[in-house]
Amino acid sequence: MRRVRRSFALLLPLLLAFVAMLTAGPQGMVDWRAQRAITIESDDWGLSGFVPDAAAWDGRRREDLTPGSFPAVYWNSTLEDSGSVAELAAVLGAFRGRDGQPALLQPNYILSALAWEGGQWRRYDLPELPQAYQRPGMWTAVREATGRGVWYPEFHGAWHYDPERRQSATAADPGVAAAAERGIMLFPGSEAARELGPWRSTPQLAAELDTALAIFGRAFGRRPGSLIAPDYTWDGRIEALWASRTLVVLQAKREQRHPRWPHGPVGRVLKVVDRQWSRAVRPERTYLERNCRLEPAQSPDAAATVAACLRDTRKAWRRGEPAIVESHRVNFAHADPAIAAAGRRGLREYLECVAALEGGPGVFLADVEVASLMRHGVSLRQAGEVRIARNGTHSRRVAFDPAGLRRGTTASLILLDSHFEGPVPASADR
Ligand SMILES: [Zn+2]
Repeated sequence: MRRVRRSFALLLPLLLAFVAMLTAGPQGMVDWRAQRAITIESDDWGLSGFVPDAAAWDGRRREDLTPGSFPAVYWNSTLEDSGSVAELAAVLGAFRGRDGQPALLQPNYILSALAWEGGQWRRYDLPELPQAYQRPGMWTAVREATGRGVWYPEFHGAWHYDPERRQSATAADPGVAAAAERGIMLFPGSEAARELGPWRSTPQLAAELDTALAIFGRAFGRRPGSLIAPDYTWDGRIEALWASRTLVVLQAKREQRHPRWPHGPVGRVLKVVDRQWSRAVRPERTYLERNCRLEPAQSPDAAATVAACLRDTRKAWRRGEPAIVESHRVNFAHADPAIAAAGRRGLREYLECVAALEGGPGVFLADVEVASLMRHGVSLRQAGEVRIARNGTHSRRVAFDPAGLRRGTTASLILLDSHFEGPVPASADR
């Protein structure tokens, strides 16, 4: 009997640690039920692909490229242009949160492109674009959208595919090279040629990351504060690499794909344990899970997609979470203008429904704000010329403003009243 009790005493802490690990959730200093927050994360902006325009397929059987499987709408996914950015910005700007700030889209950017031009590879880094993907006025539209506070760029990746696999597939087949010459980004096996695949060397990925961060800084004037891995594929060494560059706000951990892990129930259990383990042992990292989908371009019934997204938004709020909405670029930039128009319509309908909810629309936040509110109870974000401050707690709190410190002229410590939200108050103590 005593032996049983002793083994139980030994096992209990282990059991409790295991339970703690399985139940580790997002940290929270604010009441997310009261916040009623919406974050819209949108991947693939800046990606020179899949095709420059629908004419790229003229006289060509696209199936011959055998890229692998993806939703059919992606065959004609294309790089955004000034019109698609401006029209989307207009939809967002027509809606306001309870804080008076407009609806906000967080475009996650791909920073570089490889282009097969005149029989050789050429590299383009944003804001430069390949010859086949010229988009006059696009950066003006991005600057305007950013200035209006509806556009908050974040980080997606360098290429969205393994550049070496693309180069070798193109070298091996003149048909693939001819497609690349037209600006078609797809190649045999491209769907599985993940940018951060486990076969790629860590030093190479570290160099790519540093280059991509420098390009991001030049294009958008700051460091990214949040990121999402291309194709949701990354592993522990990549997370460590990001953390070493102070990238600790990570999107969509629940969607993470491990190409070498088994499929089926074993793989699923491994994923849950890995995710909870990461939450428990990496408290310095913030994992933001996407809990709503708004992908009308992939749905035969856009109205049902909007209704489901609205339902999931309310469920997230009831669970005490921000509503984090996934909505890829393909909904808003497409070689078929009717698809982009339907995507904008879907977003507009969703925002109308949210605005009509009892209690009003809540607030639109970027990942960096969600993460900072969770961790510190306060947040600061640049929206054009304005800095938006928030205090999600019941008490007065001080927010630290590193931008103010850099400028050396304005506040670096800002005192915020409880539940304050809006532009940094002029009267803030300094
Ligand atoms: Zn992507």
